[in-house]
Amino acid sequence: MLNNVGEVWKGLRLEEEMRLEAVRRINSRGGCAPHLAISFDTHLFSIDTSRAPKAALQPDAYLITHAHSDHYGKSAMLSSRAVASMETARALEIRYDREYQGRTFRVGESILVDEVLIDTHPTGHTIGSSAFSWLTETGERVLVTGDVKDYRHLPKSDFLVMEATYGDPYDPSCIFDDDIAAFSEALDEGASFGAYAFGKAQRAVALMRAMGYRDEIGMDDKSLMLTSELMGPAAGPLAELNGAGINVATPWNLNLVRSRAKYFLTGRRDSSYPTIQLSDHLDFRGLMRMIEHVSPERVLVYHPQGARAGLLAHHLQECGLDTTSLDCIDRFVR
Ligand SMILES: [Zn+2]
Repeated sequence: MLNNVGEVWKGLRLEEEMRLEAVRRINSRGGCAPHLAISFDTHLFSIDTSRAPKAALQPDAYLITHAHSDHYGKSAMLSSRAVASMETARALEIRYDREYQGRTFRVGESILVDEVLIDTHPTGHTIGSSAFSWLTETGERVLVTGDVKDYRHLPKSDFLVMEATYGDPYDPSCIFDDDIAAFSEALDEGASFGAYAFGKAQRAVALMRAMGYRDEIGMDDKSLMLTSELMGPAAGPLAELNGAGINVATPWNLNLVRSRAKYFLTGRRDSSYPTIQLSDHLDFRGLMRMIEHVSPERVLVYHPQGARAGLLAHHLQECGLDTTSLDCIDRFVR
């Protein structure tokens, strides 16, 4: 059992019930594997982490919230215990050129893992991005968000495991609005856009189509494949890079684009191109509204690496909410 602070729980599964808590896996180098697992009742669900080696304790499921590399689906996708949306599974296959080995679901549907019914919820972060929630035998609802752009479909929950990409309450750059007007003006002037191949590129194409742009959009290979497969007919006509007047290129290929005006779609401020603020995430205010919406008893901030998770946890703690962050987890499995 994991009752003693710092005790490492190795190998055997005990039949007696485990209380709901977050644990981390110690890897072969003695460090922590990415992110965490949730132990509850007699179950262990890993969240956005790499596969444990065969000799290690195996979770009942590797839940993969979406296909960005800092959520480790590249490794977890090779386990038959992986659980990801159909789009996330396909995006992982395209991105990493490997076959997805796990189980899939349609976002919004439920999936049964070891007699636990896991509900899935869209988060609007990438195509196929999904939050997971389930009820423990003691009646607590656990919600794991992954990265979030739109929290409206998330359920009320007791234990919220959330991201903090823009969760630093002391950093003014964590407060922003997407500059849709600037994007529209740039589109009118015939500009091309720098956007990461998975996530931002599809957001850009969807926005362009929503703004009535019907012509071909040029894209580099991976962006083109991801966009046409994941968006289907909604992507409209696509062409290879420079095969159309307007291009959506990965940032490192933006220099190859033949366009008078070029903009990098990002919230970053260190770009050599002019930028347009277009984010796949909630800003700090959005994260606060999300917490209000979910109205949890307890919060664990699990992503991203670095100080932001701890700073958000500190802020929520000061607001009177029982909150911790990944670096404070003191229960471990091997
Ligand atoms: Zn992400």
